[in-house]
Amino acid sequence: MGRIRESVERLAAYQPGEQPKVEGLVKLNTNENPYPPSPTVAEVLRSADAAALRLYPDPMATALRKRLADIHGTGVENVFVGNGSDEVLRLATRAFTQSGGSAAMFEPTYSLYPVLCAAEEVDVERTPLGERFAWREPEVSERAGLFFLTNPNAPTGVKYDDADVEGWVRRFPGVVLIDEAYGDFADGTPGARLAKQYDNVLVCRTLSKSFSLAGIRCGYAVGDARLIGALYKLKDSYNLDALTQRVALAALGDLEWMRANARKIRATRERVRAELEKKGYDVIPSNANFLFVRPTGAEGAADLFRRLRENRILVRHFPNAESTKDWLRISVGTDAQMDRFLAVM
Ligand code: PMP
Repeated sequence: MGRIRESVERLAAYQPGEQPKVEGLVKLNTNENPYPPSPTVAEVLRSADAAALRLYPDPMATALRKRLADIHGTGVENVFVGNGSDEVLRLATRAFTQSGGSAAMFEPTYSLYPVLCAAEEVDVERTPLGERFAWREPEVSERAGLFFLTNPNAPTGVKYDDADVEGWVRRFPGVVLIDEAYGDFADGTPGARLAKQYDNVLVCRTLSKSFSLAGIRCGYAVGDARLIGALYKLKDSYNLDALTQRVALAALGDLEWMRANARKIRATRERVRAELEKKGYDVIPSNANFLFVRPTGAEGAADLFRRLRENRILVRHFPNAESTKDWLRISVGTDAQMDRFLAVM
């Protein structure tokens, strides 16, 4: 008998984007926000009381959940808060699949989902997206208990039509987890409305991108109280530390700051898209804080990735899947960062 569980031994771990410490690096590889979080966050950190860290945090993050419930017009029992939305996704994979069952998703999509499925020994069913990564009606077996629906999608940036999403929610008998990690950069997303209206829908959001808080690890889900309750049964006792709860609450008290940054990023995104198209690159119209870009000349995606890196610009390449190998995902930074990027392009 091996010492390590077979499914873990076999598991190919998720590859997060690099976090290199290189002087002067323009870091456009992990969809971080180039602007700082609300000044209310800095105030919380300045006034933090070290002595209070003796005590365990509120295991149910009640104040934070109340604020999120107010924002989304639901009850506290309809909100789960996790240690990053990655934790929400991991718990959802466990809670909403059966052993020997499967979870379904589009191809390509967020590459963490299959890793979570493998860890739970759950099969993955993939529906290839259509032309230019457009919506295709999913094909799933009866074994599928969970559908991961990323909207806008990653790494493509495509936002699906609300009617397609709602139609699928109505047809799929299992749980549809609508991952709106990039929703604040889109022209409106239907996740929260659907999560309130249908008892098989959870919408998952994060403070990592639009709220500029990837460093504190806070994500959440909104949905039917029975689904939310299942996540609470599985979470670590104190999954959100005390500082994270306070920082997140401060950020959620200043939505206008987040929205202003999202508007700036969207404006930069559209400017960069137009410039890249002028230079002959193929760019997928994006509703997120990144662009999915394909070089059309002799230089392939891997070559371009290397050339950008030589110029201290880091972007993301997903070379291991047929659907993504010809493309680069470029996070939208400040205008100054994007000018440096465009100069190399
Ligand atoms: N969902 C999607 C689609 C993502 O791209 C990411 C970021 N890698 C996440 C969820 C996770 O975000 P976090 O754990 O920082 O909340």
